[in-house]
Amino acid sequence: MSISLPNETNGTIPGLKNYVNGEWVPSSAERWEDVPNPATGELLARVPLSPKADVEAAVAAAAAAFPEWSKTAVPRRARILFRYQQLLVEHWEELARIVTLENGKSYSEAYGEVQRGIECVEFAAGAPTLMMGGQLPDIATGIESGMYRYPLGVVGGITPFNFPMMVPCWMFPLAIACGNAFVLKPSERTPLLAGRLAELFAEAGLPAGVLNIVHGAKDVVNGLLESPGVKAISFVGSQPVAEHVYRTAAANGKRVQALAGAKNHSIVMPDADLDNAVTNIVAAAFGSAGERCMAASVVVAVGDIADELVGRLAKAADGIRIGNGLDEGVFLGPVIREENKNRTIGYIEIGEAEGAKLVRDGRKDAEAASQAGYFVGPTIFDEVKPGMKIWKDEIFAPVLSVVRAKDLAEAIAISNESDFANGACLYTDSAKAVRQFRDEIDAGMLGINLGVPAPMAFFPFSGYKKSFYGDLHANGRDGVEFYTRKKMLTARY
Ligand code: NAD
Repeated sequence: MSISLPNETNGTIPGLKNYVNGEWVPSSAERWEDVPNPATGELLARVPLSPKADVEAAVAAAAAAFPEWSKTAVPRRARILFRYQQLLVEHWEELARIVTLENGKSYSEAYGEVQRGIECVEFAAGAPTLMMGGQLPDIATGIESGMYRYPLGVVGGITPFNFPMMVPCWMFPLAIACGNAFVLKPSERTPLLAGRLAELFAEAGLPAGVLNIVHGAKDVVNGLLESPGVKAISFVGSQPVAEHVYRTAAANGKRVQALAGAKNHSIVMPDADLDNAVTNIVAAAFGSAGERCMAASVVVAVGDIADELVGRLAKAADGIRIGNGLDEGVFLGPVIREENKNRTIGYIEIGEAEGAKLVRDGRKDAEAASQAGYFVGPTIFDEVKPGMKIWKDEIFAPVLSVVRAKDLAEAIAISNESDFANGACLYTDSAKAVRQFRDEIDAGMLGINLGVPAPMAFFPFSGYKKSFYGDLHANGRDGVEFYTRKKMLTARY
């Protein structure tokens, strides 16, 4: 299957280039990685593991573009964002197709992901309002005071493989709308889409050098963390890397937001509408092959509904269609690489050894086994206990653990024992239970009777504990605060 890439050499497997100062430039990398389509194993491209020198070239280009861009009138910047939004809408299907090809998620999920990215651009286009400061005419007799917002300079963004469209769009559109210049380091496992996003932004009128892309892995990340020219770092990825990024960026005097891993609990009460709970949990646990930071990876079944709930979850999982995400009706695609498949199988073995009851074994799924790519079928463990490794670790695969609790208080206590605090859901008809859950649960993004409570672009993406390192979250007002600095002017005339 061929896709049109900006820096493709016709007919051959493209070696990706970096995007610096509005041009595709060859990386000086000595090491490269293959980028396979995870559904088929077919080679899509080769990605350079760029060295730190390439980072410095991109940071220099961004720094050179910053003075003029930061002084471009904010409504003019916003107009470029509006044009960008239109172009993204026009290219929606092409973008979704690239997401499915490089990530493996189903086309309908990829299509939804593109929508989430477009919504970020729509939010960023509100920059003239978002960047307003505030004044008080009389802070003392004859003295006034005002707050003014300015961009920071060059911002670095580092993104994970699981949302090649949405997560970069949490970062660069808003940072750029606020007047910053940006250097993006996309995941080396899904590096293709970023180039298209940059091309379309240039077509919308973004000046050269304002958005740059450096492909690679940890050398690029560490180059950004150490570069004196970079003022702030936005990171999304796994917990150990988030912690490293947070510590290193802060030690180098940079502002940093680092969004990390998760283990999201869904509590199902005895009064819940089980049809709704099962539909939503199955979609949230196995959608995107469980490779979502908001995946429902643990169910806490409260009271005597547990047997029925587990039975229905298993039945619904049996009905999931597995295959290439570009094929009609496919729900479950591959995990991202062979090593992720092996890691998932390893966790299923650990779960069995820990004494959890394997209700549905994704290793034995015939439809998954018949695929050429990296597939694991939906897997369900019952009678999982807090403390077990399959309960504690983020597996990031289509593996669901069911824990049993006697009441809501115990269910909340179990959820709160997790190291992570990204999302949590409650299935119930009781307003009293909702209130108790909202007040007592340790998680940043809560859902009631739905599976994936990911906030829209105008609200913060709000995890904490080991799910987030920093102060200001991505998106919403937090995002504007993160990408701007404030000056206070106090005056007597
Ligand atoms: P990852 O941590 O492996 O990679 C993320 C980025 O860090 C990539 O660009 C990668 O090149 C870089 N990186 C990897 N190892 C590094 C190292 N040792 N030193 C420096 N940089 C390094 O994450 P991933 O597997 O691509 O993404 C999945 C993870 O992201 C999951 O843990 C998921 O929960 C998390 N995630 C979190 C959110 C959120 O909002 N909290 C959203 C999406 C994904």
